[in-house]
Amino acid sequence: MPQDAAIATNLAAIRDRIAEACRRANRQPEEVTLVAVSKTHPQDAVVAALAAGQMVFGENRVQEATAKFPPLRAAHPGLRLHIIGGLQTNKARDAVRVADVIESIDRPKLAAAIAEAMVKENRRPDCLVQVNTGDEAQKAGVPRAEADAFIRAAREEYGLPVTGLMCIPPVEDDPRPHFAYLRELAARHGLPVLSMGMSADFEAAIAEGATLVRVGTAIFGSRPAA
Ligand SMILES: *Cc1c(COP(=O)(O)O)cnc(C)c1O
Repeated sequence: MPQDAAIATNLAAIRDRIAEACRRANRQPEEVTLVAVSKTHPQDAVVAALAAGQMVFGENRVQEATAKFPPLRAAHPGLRLHIIGGLQTNKARDAVRVADVIESIDRPKLAAAIAEAMVKENRRPDCLVQVNTGDEAQKAGVPRAEADAFIRAAREEYGLPVTGLMCIPPVEDDPRPHFAYLRELAARHGLPVLSMGMSADFEAAIAEGATLVRVGTAIFGSRPAA
């Protein structure tokens, strides 16, 4: 099957599965936005997804996002780009320039850099706080014990437009308790956006209240090993 047709077919299948997961959870499909994660895939793959009606994309590297997405915006004014990967502070300004949503705010230094970049760029992408729900040493995200204080600081001290939370549960765990924890944390802070669920677990995430699901492999195929 040609690549473009495969992407369109995969997108249709994922949308069906999202609708079915919503039905089972007594939720409306409109409550869940599919973020198509196009990292490592060429711009042609994004163009094919756009042709199939997909308007929201995720990239984990700012440099790759900047190469692929700005040229597409003129022809697709509704395009929305989420930065979903760990961010270095020296990439804050580029991230603010290219993104509509930054999903990976996870430490005071980064919050400060993003806040400063927003002033310089006169642009305010929505922000999500990434929570390291498994408290994994290698993983980005604010540790559980610091989450409440950091969410408050991101909003009040740094003045970021925080709309919600994001997590990536440990691969070896049942993701449901992690998703439930994130939902309760967001509710405590009155945050409406919950970014959780990837190719392998987005249906479980929808059952636990996800409003953004980040799906890469199931749409664009496998990526080269990192
Ligand atoms: C790559 C990535 C995804 C997509 O993962 P798949 O398993 O390919 O669906 C989702 N979220 C983040 C943060 C990622 O880096």
